[in-house]
Amino acid sequence: MRPHRMELTNQLVLGYGLHEKMSMHAPRKATEEELRQFHDADYVDFLKRVTPKNAQALTKDWTKFNVGDDCPVFHDVFSFCQQYAGASLAAARKLANESTDIAINWSGGLHHAKKGEASGFCYVNDIVLAILELLRYHPRVLYIDIDIHHGDGVQEAFYLSNRVLTVSFHKYAADFFPGTGNLSEIGSDLGKYFSLNVPLQDGIDDESYISLFKAIMEPTITTFRPSSIVLQCGADSLGCDRLGTFNLSIAAHGECVRFIKSFGLPLLVLGGGGYRQSSVARCWTYETGVLAGVTLPDELPSNNYYQFFAPDYHLHPPLTGQIQNLNTRQSLERIRVTIREKLRYLNGAPSVQMQEIPPDLGGWLADEVRTREEKDEDEEGAEGSENKDPEMGGRGEYFDLEEMTGGRKRTRAF
Ligand SMILES: [Zn+2]
Repeated sequence: MRPHRMELTNQLVLGYGLHEKMSMHAPRKATEEELRQFHDADYVDFLKRVTPKNAQALTKDWTKFNVGDDCPVFHDVFSFCQQYAGASLAAARKLANESTDIAINWSGGLHHAKKGEASGFCYVNDIVLAILELLRYHPRVLYIDIDIHHGDGVQEAFYLSNRVLTVSFHKYAADFFPGTGNLSEIGSDLGKYFSLNVPLQDGIDDESYISLFKAIMEPTITTFRPSSIVLQCGADSLGCDRLGTFNLSIAAHGECVRFIKSFGLPLLVLGGGGYRQSSVARCWTYETGVLAGVTLPDELPSNNYYQFFAPDYHLHPPLTGQIQNLNTRQSLERIRVTIREKLRYLNGAPSVQMQEIPPDLGGWLADEVRTREEKDEDEEGAEGSENKDPEMGGRGEYFDLEEMTGGRKRTRAF
C-alpha cells in the first residue's frame, strides 16, 4: 500500500501522454466534518490525534479502533486519509453535477475501513463517503469490487439499504482476510438481495473470471438499473501478487473495466490493494487508457523509474499460470446460477421517493476550505438553474421520478 505505487502509476500515465486525454485535478483534503458523514466522531478524532510518538499513551484506543498490526500509525496518517478521501469525494461531486462522465482516483478504494475502526490498511472508507455523496443525487448506486479481498467495509455500510447494490468478486477461504463474503451474505431488511458475493478459490484464470464477471454483471445492471457505478479495481487480484493468489493478467483485469464502461453510466473508478508495485502501476495505467479510449503500445515509455519495470519493460508482462486453478467448472456454474436466482428477487429496481436533497456539505464549507474550482462549479450551477429556491441557496435539486423511468436519469434544478 506504499504511496510510491501512485508515483509509479503517475509516471506511466504521463509517459504515455494520457494526461492529454483527460482533465487532471488536485482536490482539497476532505474535512473532518466530511469524514464524519460516515465515520464515528471519536474515531475521526483519534485518527487526528494519534502519532507514532503518542501512540503508547493511547494503547486503550488502539484496541478499540483496531489500529496496530495491519493498520500501523505513521507520520501524518490523518493527512493521508484526508487526501485520498478528498479525491474520491471530489470525483463523486463531479459525477453528481455532471461535469464529467468518468472519474478516476487510484489513491482511493480503501474498502475495509469500518464506521468506527480501521481494517486491512484502510483507515477511512473513501468509497462509502463517495457513494453517500452520489446518493444525494442518484437514486441507485451499484458498487463493484474486483480486489482479491472481500469489500466488507462497503458491504457492511449499505447492508440494510436497497439504494446501493454491492457486488464483490474475491477469494474466500477460512484463513484469508477478511474471512467474509460467502454466497449466503445477501443483505438484510430493505437491503435483502442487494448484497451479492462471488466467493472464488486460488488460481482463477482469465477466461473463467471474465466469463463469470460478465455473466453476473450484465443481468445485475439491467435488473438494478443503477444511476451510477463505483468500481474498485484492487490490483492484488493479478497473478504474481505478493498477497493475492489469483492468476489474472492485466488485460483480463482491464477487460472488467472495459465491460463496465460499455454501459455508459456515470462511473467512479478507484484503486485498492495491490502488492507488487510494478504490476499495480502497469494495471492502473492500462485501465486509465481503457477509460480514456486510448490503445497503449506494449513498450513502456521512458520514465524516472524505468528500472522498476525490468526485465521486460512491457505493459503486459507474463503474470499468469503460476498457481493451480482450484475453481472447477461446476463450482463456478453453481455461483453463477445462485446469483442469477437472487437477482430474480430484486423484483425490478426499487423506486426512491421524491424528496428534497439537503444542500451538500461542500456548499456550506467555509470559503477558505473550498477550492476555486468548487466555487466556480457552484456558480455555474446557480446560473444554469431556473426558479431557484432561496431557501436552498441555489443548490436545491429534486429527483423527478417520471424522468427516471427507463433507466434515464435527469436531475432538475428548481
Ligand atoms: Zn486487497
